[in-house]
Amino acid sequence: MNANDHVAPFGTIDGELRVGGMPLSRLAARVGSTPFFAYDRGLLDARVDRLRAALPERVELSFAMKANPMPAVVQHLARRVDRIDVASGLEMQAALDSTIRPDRVSFAGPGKAPAEIRQAVAAGIIVEVESTTELDRVLAAGDALGITPTVAIRVNPDFAVKGSGMRMGGGPQQFGIDAEQVPAVLQKYSSTGIDVLGFHVFAGSQNLNAEIIAESQRRTVDLVTDLSAHLPTALRYLNLGGGFGIPYTERDQPLDLDAIGGALADLVDGPIADRFPEASPVIELGRYLVGECGVYVTKVLDRKVSRGKTYLVVDGGMHHQLAASGNFGQAIRRNYPLVVGNRVEETSGEGVTVVGCLCTPLDLLGDDVALPAAGIDDLIVIFQAGAYGLTASPTAFLGHPAPAEVLV
Ligand SMILES: *Cc1c(COP(=O)(O)O)cnc(C)c1O
Repeated sequence: MNANDHVAPFGTIDGELRVGGMPLSRLAARVGSTPFFAYDRGLLDARVDRLRAALPERVELSFAMKANPMPAVVQHLARRVDRIDVASGLEMQAALDSTIRPDRVSFAGPGKAPAEIRQAVAAGIIVEVESTTELDRVLAAGDALGITPTVAIRVNPDFAVKGSGMRMGGGPQQFGIDAEQVPAVLQKYSSTGIDVLGFHVFAGSQNLNAEIIAESQRRTVDLVTDLSAHLPTALRYLNLGGGFGIPYTERDQPLDLDAIGGALADLVDGPIADRFPEASPVIELGRYLVGECGVYVTKVLDRKVSRGKTYLVVDGGMHHQLAASGNFGQAIRRNYPLVVGNRVEETSGEGVTVVGCLCTPLDLLGDDVALPAAGIDDLIVIFQAGAYGLTASPTAFLGHPAPAEVLV
């Protein structure tokens, strides 16, 4: 996909990118400072609607908050998704502040602090335990509080998912309990009064291949079928993970969501209906829900030519949007889609290199991109900034001010 494909969902108005219904320069005036992140609520809603239309009705949508924990975004999505998955005590607080019911919040992550586990048990959320140490801590918290804790076992599957940007299951992992250990663990804790609702299998992230995702969902259902035979009660929680990717570079094609929905319908109407009548399958998504709804907006501070190469220096950079600089887990650096937001309809006449304001060559936002002639005070917009942006970036590096964040 190229940059124009990313302009289309936002639309244009008066020759500018439209964000939250406004021309970008007006939004910048309304925010009052650059750089800033803007998340478009209309696009968030459209994304949820698109998912609901493509996935079987019985599938529950969970928002993996670590992709974008901005409170306004969390509040907005809390009314639209079925569940929220958190990965820290602070995220748990944000979820509990929202309208979502506590028993619809799940807490994953290796290395939950004992105090966080106690908070989670007190709140009545589902603790997705990743080890027997965590199970012991959950039990202790339940005993101390006089509460029966609800948990799900996060399982490290005995298969790996190919084609994921980040693999988080299969082989040795810090995540989850190895599938082959789960029966013995369930046996050991069967008389403790812990309520094991079911299982969570999250095998990888940023996958753009629908067939591989569908295959992983099929294998997860088979794995959970085997494991659930060791549960004392019927399975009530079946978290199939997610891993739905979004196109970041020109080489990436969007995920075929309808193909995933079709394959999932076969699973839901077949083995899931037969074997797990009391469990609604959960699909847990971070970047796919929010990533494409956000932009990072910077202003050009300087334009200079060095030995024939033109540079635009902007007032933002990798300290706010690390991933766009290629330093957030990417094997090969490729440009994120970017445009001159106040000149989106002008033809791209020149090749320029867009760099951030940090004093390091790592702060590269667009390497030799074709843009309309842009200069000081023009607005450079980086797309795909709604997930793993601000909170996944080293904001203290070089001590520049934090950017604003708005939901529009
Ligand atoms: C990070 C994470 C997610 C979200 O991953 P995305 O690629 O943003 O969809 C979902 N579930 C778990 C357990 C995670 O750790």
